[in-house]
Amino acid sequence: MAHVLFLGGLGRSGTTLVERLLGELPGMCALGEVVHLWQRDIRDDERCGCGSRFSGCAFWTQVGERAFGGWGNVDVDRVHQLRESVERTRHIPRLASATTATAEVREYASFYSRVYAAAAEVSGSRVVVDSSKHSALAHVLRWADDIDLRVVHVVRDARGVAYSWTKRVSRPETDGTEEMTRYSPGRSALLWNAHNAAFGLLARRGVPVRRIRYEEFLADPRAGLIRLADFAGVPLHPDDLAFLRPGQADLKAGHSAAGNPMRFTVGRLPLRHDDAWVNALPSSQRRLVGAVCGPMLRAYGYPINVAPEA
Ligand SMILES: [Zn+2]
Repeated sequence: MAHVLFLGGLGRSGTTLVERLLGELPGMCALGEVVHLWQRDIRDDERCGCGSRFSGCAFWTQVGERAFGGWGNVDVDRVHQLRESVERTRHIPRLASATTATAEVREYASFYSRVYAAAAEVSGSRVVVDSSKHSALAHVLRWADDIDLRVVHVVRDARGVAYSWTKRVSRPETDGTEEMTRYSPGRSALLWNAHNAAFGLLARRGVPVRRIRYEEFLADPRAGLIRLADFAGVPLHPDDLAFLRPGQADLKAGHSAAGNPMRFTVGRLPLRHDDAWVNALPSSQRRLVGAVCGPMLRAYGYPINVAPEA
């Protein structure tokens, strides 16, 4: 049985930062966004969080050996095919209402459970952390008999998320040749509603889901980590949080397979709340996102009217 802490939420909600801090705790091994491992790592040999190419990383090489007898034995086309037929957002209603899993759902989930179990063994960790974020994947994983799935649903103010999606960010793992996707505020507002609602639905299906607000987590990361470790069933010693200092964390290199460029940060990571959107997101866009996401912003306890600083 693989014990998995799955970090979910719409992209740009802070999941990478939460994952980096969880990865510092003994008993937890942060894997990055496993959903992208098949294409970006096995196929494209992008960089691991440790800086090596995937094929040159000793950790992932051992995981591949244990899970599949080597990554070369993984039928990546089959993974893509299965993903297309079971793991799209449009499949969530079917995944959520089903009473049994299809053979395809089980087969797709088995690729993940083999990676999780092997990573737990190689790292000697009780829990592996997958920050894949996608709600559809979490809905698939709940059907796996060999995965003990716990989900951390990371929510961030939709207007901060929308602002972040408008910014240009290059992808260092491609040596600067590619940028991360960008969305208009209207589009990200719709995605914000859909993805957050999907995690609410997952909780109603009986999966343990712990919702955290990113802004609150950042205000007191120590308390946030203690609560998440408890949720994951990982006991902590007070010294385990010595890497946290006021306003910053000291990070060791990790083996995140894919995700936000923050996965490459080693050493000092500033922990400060980024509310640049309050002044930088044009008021028309702020109102648009506030209107589209209003009901759920309220439900999560966010203020609807936020005035820019004079
Ligand atoms: Zn590595």
